Amino acid sequence: MAQADLEGFRRSYKLVIEEETLLAAGDGAAESLAPTLASRDAVLIHEPVEGVRRFAEGLSDALAGAGVRVLGRRECGGERCKSVEWVVDTWRWLAAAGAARSTTAFIVGGGALLDAGGFAAATFMRGLPTVLVPTTTLAAFDAAVGGKTAANLEGKNVVGAFHNPRAVIVEPRLLAGLPERAFRSGFAEAVKHSLLSGWEGMEFLEAVAPPALERDYEALARLALWSLDYKMSVVARDPRERGLRRILNLGHTVGHVVEAASGYTLTHGEAVSIGLAAELMLSVEEAGLPPSAASRAVAMLKRLGLPVEPPGHVARRALAEARRLLMLDKKRVGGSIVVPLLEEPGRPVLREVSIDRLVRLMEVAWG
Ligand SMILES: [Zn+2]
Repeated sequence: MAQADLEGFRRSYKLVIEEETLLAAGDGAAESLAPTLASRDAVLIHEPVEGVRRFAEGLSDALAGAGVRVLGRRECGGERCKSVEWVVDTWRWLAAAGAARSTTAFIVGGGALLDAGGFAAATFMRGLPTVLVPTTTLAAFDAAVGGKTAANLEGKNVVGAFHNPRAVIVEPRLLAGLPERAFRSGFAEAVKHSLLSGWEGMEFLEAVAPPALERDYEALARLALWSLDYKMSVVARDPRERGLRRILNLGHTVGHVVEAASGYTLTHGEAVSIGLAAELMLSVEEAGLPPSAASRAVAMLKRLGLPVEPPGHVARRALAEARRLLMLDKKRVGGSIVVPLLEEPGRPVLREVSIDRLVRLMEVAWG
């Protein structure tokens, strides 16, 4: 991993270069980096939101100023972009715009648009280079790296491809405009990364997350770069999700049960926060995690305004449906699920845990 400070930003943030992916953040990051990343032409795909539109226009101008021809801009917002139909339309649009193998696709959006736009770019002419600009904390702390792209077909993420972005640009101003609940939600993934990375990561998070939560631009950018950088270090060792990368599922086995049982009225991040609290308890009981480490992380989740238990009616439904939902878990093998647990912060282990044990955990945690 190489690190450098990029000069010329009004505020300069760490720039992290790992493998092929470049992470950058801060005022002017997109404008400064775009010309060096981009080929002679580019396309922009972005959310139809005022702040994002302004950013895309600025990026367009900066690219044009650097001699990069912008072939076109296309807008899409939310889950409806994740349909195969939208991806097909986008292929047609790319062809009509004259996109070629070397055209860089800039995608500015939340998880759904990054997934679908990334998939369209990954498959057009066997793969256009992409630059991702996340507009949600969930994407900026987690989803923007990892190389997973997808569209929905009958079920979620049924078609997709692995395609690493050439760069991820974090523009804290785009994140700071999010509504409070969506904004907070993404922090759960950063807490997860801090637990997986170790004591130092927890200390870093405890120092940076509170000002980031107050929407301090610099803290937000630092937290996003740190969180993406950590995730990238895991993904780089297991790009196709064959083993190690499964540690990133910490908090997600229980989290997915809660998310589904809530009828998706809880955000992904809220469900992960609840899942983390429960799986930390399991880590204490089954993997010897010091209780003090678990309570410290739970205190952090609370401080971030994230739930650590589901609301009563969701808990009742989750308990009633836990067994059925766990049977649907993709990581299930027979009556067990491979769950990442922590022996200590920074020391995750993959354990086969029976569905019975998981149900009992939830009963004890929320009963
Ligand atoms: Zn997640």
